[in-house]
Amino acid sequence: MNIILIGIQGSGKGTQAKLLTKKYGWKHITTGEIFRENINQKTNLGLQAKSYIEKGELVPDSIVYEIVSDAIQKANNGFILDGFPRNLEQTEFLLENFKIDKVVLLELSDEKAIERVMARVNCDSCGKDYNLLFSKPKNDGICDNCGGKIVRRKDDNEIAIKKRIEKFHLETEKAIDYFTEKKLVVKIDVSKGINEILSEIIAKIEQ
Ligand code: ADP
Ligand code: ZN
Repeated sequence: MNIILIGIQGSGKGTQAKLLTKKYGWKHITTGEIFRENINQKTNLGLQAKSYIEKGELVPDSIVYEIVSDAIQKANNGFILDGFPRNLEQTEFLLENFKIDKVVLLELSDEKAIERVMARVNCDSCGKDYNLLFSKPKNDGICDNCGGKIVRRKDDNEIAIKKRIEKFHLETEKAIDYFTEKKLVVKIDVSKGINEILSEIIAKIEQ
């Protein structure tokens, strides 16, 4: 299956995508992560994307299309898109070029979204995700997995997160309306536990 996970910042797209990937063997394609890796490795793509990302702006579509097409072409056994599409143009591009089976909409209020994003951190070395609200590392600032340093994403500051949430309402919601018209959307309330959310997603995509 080819699935899209869509939802506001902090709604847990990445967390659920990782769990679904493990269960089904699909490829997890996450545009934000691809950009962050390229920024760390100081590649050309990273240099192009960096200033947009740090301000909470969207990276230009042409750059995004290249990385998404490339990743989808390498997915031979289904994929989960996380972070793409984010506007109507990206949605049209996607549906013109690739087959999508289901769009899973993760629903969360703006208030909760901001609260969760401000509490999310991860390990500098192994990348393990934590949330200071409900999944803190055992020792402050130190990764349970590898002893690495716990850090916050540079764009998870209040100004950039508010801008991203505004963009979600202004642009990504148009993409959601379009998918709804095509009857591809299933909705999940994500104000509950990770495993409960996962079971609901599985039930709805297997329907
Ligand atoms: P979040 O969901 O918290 O906004 P992501 O990791 O998905 O974080 O994305 C981080 C940043 O990467 C975005 O703010 C944006 O600058 C860029 N980005 C990710 N996906 C896209 C996309 N589909 N189109 C344009 N820019 C994107
Ligand atoms: Zn670690």
